[in-house]
Amino acid sequence: MTEFRIVSLGSSSEGNCFLIVTKEESFFIDLGIGFRDLMRKLRFLKVSSLPSTVLLSHEHGDHTTGIRSFSKKFPITICANDSTFKNLNNAVKNPGVESKIFTTGEVFQIGKAKIKSFPVYHDAAEPVGFTVMYEKHKVVYLMDSGRVEQNTKKEMADADLVIIDSNYDDFSLLQGKYPDTLKERIMCSGHLSNEVVGNLILNHPNPQTEFWLGHLSKEHNSPGLASVTVNYILKYGNGQKKKFKILPRKGIGPLWHPAETRQLEFMYKSGTSLSQP
Ligand SMILES: [Zn+2]
Repeated sequence: MTEFRIVSLGSSSEGNCFLIVTKEESFFIDLGIGFRDLMRKLRFLKVSSLPSTVLLSHEHGDHTTGIRSFSKKFPITICANDSTFKNLNNAVKNPGVESKIFTTGEVFQIGKAKIKSFPVYHDAAEPVGFTVMYEKHKVVYLMDSGRVEQNTKKEMADADLVIIDSNYDDFSLLQGKYPDTLKERIMCSGHLSNEVVGNLILNHPNPQTEFWLGHLSKEHNSPGLASVTVNYILKYGNGQKKKFKILPRKGIGPLWHPAETRQLEFMYKSGTSLSQP
């Protein structure tokens, strides 16, 4: 059985953090939640050994805010490109933090997991998405992106799981009280809307790919709104068989495993051990 598991530890404009567990290593993608919250969730999941590596997509606070407090207690290695490091605040100037700089596009390994970063369109120094490949499985992480480029769509085509930003509802954002400059920033270079993501799922060539929709705005989106919009697009585009889930903003889950997602989701409700046998 493949030992490859992924769980969301929170995904919203207030914080994003994902835990990846493989047989050899476990690591985070982004660390945008506070220490106490993180430890409570790891305890709940019965994680036996603490992850010591973070793949960092970009420098924004909702992806990095937990680094400082975590590294005060435990040693941690941050993997990011040079521009992201240069734009991080004092979070990484801490003796508990080691830096591992990658060049965007380069492939490197954590244990036996192969990691590839790819450029994304977002208003940060040099934001990236990640592809995590383990044995024959592939997960693509694309959080915070103003649009999805062709290369990224290609990257997603044969993925088992795509974790993607579905930040706002178009109507709610346009009618909302944000200043026009901020609305423009969000829509043009910040994030994806439910509608864009719904059409992306509909036109995705692989019906087996599961999509996780995260980073929902508190002001201009809700799990219900995202779900209704995407389901509407899939229904009228004849794509009802496509699979997607809305990530809770602050809660744990869902938990993904290539062979037994349903069982693990059930187990998760009563506390799931992510530790390897
Ligand atoms: Zn961001």
